[in-house]
Amino acid sequence: MLRINELKLPLNHPESALREAIVRRLGIDDADLLGFTVFKRSYDARKKAAIVLIYAIDVEVRNESAVLARFAQDQYVIPAPDTNYKFVPAAKPAPGTPRPVVVGMGPCGMFVALILAQMGLNPLVLERGKIVRERTVDTFGFWRKRKLNTESNVQFGEGGAGTFSDGKLYSQIKDPKHYGRKVLTEFVKAGAPEEILYVSKPHIGTFRLVKMVEQIRAEIIALGGEIRFETRVDDVFVSEENGVRQVQGVRLSSGEEIPTRHLVMAIGHSARDTFQLLYDRGVYIEAKPFSIGFRVEHPQSLIDVCRFGPNAGNKLLGAADYKIVHHASNGRSVYSFCMCPGGTVVAASSEEGRVVTNGMSQYSRNERNANSAIVVGITPEDYPGHPLAGIDFQRELESRAFVLGGSNYDAPGQLMGDFVRGVASKEFGSVIPSFRPAVHLTDLAPSLPDYAILALREAFVAFDKQIKGYYKEDAVLTGVETRTSSPIRIKRNDGDLQSLNTRGLFPAGEGAGYAGGIMSAAVDGIRVAEAVALAMAA
Ligand code: FAD
Repeated sequence: MLRINELKLPLNHPESALREAIVRRLGIDDADLLGFTVFKRSYDARKKAAIVLIYAIDVEVRNESAVLARFAQDQYVIPAPDTNYKFVPAAKPAPGTPRPVVVGMGPCGMFVALILAQMGLNPLVLERGKIVRERTVDTFGFWRKRKLNTESNVQFGEGGAGTFSDGKLYSQIKDPKHYGRKVLTEFVKAGAPEEILYVSKPHIGTFRLVKMVEQIRAEIIALGGEIRFETRVDDVFVSEENGVRQVQGVRLSSGEEIPTRHLVMAIGHSARDTFQLLYDRGVYIEAKPFSIGFRVEHPQSLIDVCRFGPNAGNKLLGAADYKIVHHASNGRSVYSFCMCPGGTVVAASSEEGRVVTNGMSQYSRNERNANSAIVVGITPEDYPGHPLAGIDFQRELESRAFVLGGSNYDAPGQLMGDFVRGVASKEFGSVIPSFRPAVHLTDLAPSLPDYAILALREAFVAFDKQIKGYYKEDAVLTGVETRTSSPIRIKRNDGDLQSLNTRGLFPAGEGAGYAGGIMSAAVDGIRVAEAVALAMAA
């Protein structure tokens, strides 16, 4: 199999044009082209009226070595790399070794458990939230009736934080071992559309994610894994062995104690109580940068036209996304984060008396508004002191948002024009916000530190140069976005992926500060599963 990269065709090309282009590119007879599959498809929309599709194609040809030899100097025609997943060669653990325990059934914990189960290592998964169907009822209940269940919500429960999401599955991580391919392949096996394997920015949307999570759960159990829901880890036992701190087990919310020497903590960025617990047990943790800001809603049609011009609405392109950055004059970077085309803004609280926003969409991405977090980068210098000080900082901002929203889980909001001028908003314009229970119009300035407000005001005006019409008087800002990533890093060794100071503890995924997003969390899960298997064999 050989691969042709950067094969370009116009957006609306007929299907047959692809075969013709391959034959032409390779300079072969049509009869010598035995078959081909699209490995990746992306687009270049810099010229809106002449959008180009860019393909990477895996091709089977007669006399492949002769064809490759002809293209030896051409970096775009190469042998197709083998992207199949290969399990690490780890010997079976000694008899009597307690099974590995995985805390958290988000994308990271799910992939740790799946790989360990596929290797025959019978993982036990402990998840504080409920199974995904019951969790959906609680989450929608909160959005509709303002009734927050602090253990079953957007952040906690089967599937993790990304279950009610846009289901974007791309990431900018380096992935030399093609773990991302393994993740996508497992997702397709679990019911995701096949196109996620080849489109450049795959997404799944909420409803499909729910079904896939159930399928993956079934596979883990069928392979010998065990999953316990509504089971929170409330303590971690660590003791010294030959001068080294070693994990010995965990205590559950039920009081039950479970021995293990291989404990994966894939707890996400919102498990603030569990962060505190690990800190109290002496696990090495440090503060890390994250971002704060608002969700912004525009009409999706505005973004589509700006990105795709006359091609707006083209089925292959779908609803347009955007990525924008502004370096503000006060030295802060302001950027878009987790953009959800044709989606909704959601209440993502997991603690009483706090309001925090995020975004989700369905596979069709056909809601009226585009939303994106627009956030300001902050560092531990903005919340100095304790390694967990970032959590206090997030809590303070989320509490302010709760009060500004009316102390009933409505979110505070403001029109973009009013925000930039510094006056409270009284009435919505043409953009009706999608956040539930509701958006309470006010002045957002007291919700974030002054440096962030100044940088955001400047950025909204500046973004208009990047996306014509972005500075829109009646675009709606909803606050606050604080959980863009983990405020801490539970540091681990680069080699064996175990905690810097606690053997047998494998910090993993977003909460540990080693991932940001579904795909990178899942990929980190694969890496950590391999590290666990190797440690168990040692
Ligand atoms: P999580 O998914 O947070 O999972 C951690 C799990 O651990 C949770 O289920 C939690 O209940 C459990 N847990 C925590 N503490 C304990 C304990 N003590 N005992 C037992 N269980 C515990 N990313 C994207 O890439 N694309 C998107 O479109 C996208 N949209 C998002 C939309 C929303 C609304 C949200 C909230 C996030 C979104 N994200 C998105 C981010 C993405 O969801 C996260 O990056 C990802 O889920 C992190 O995976 P994780 O497994 O590391 O942690």
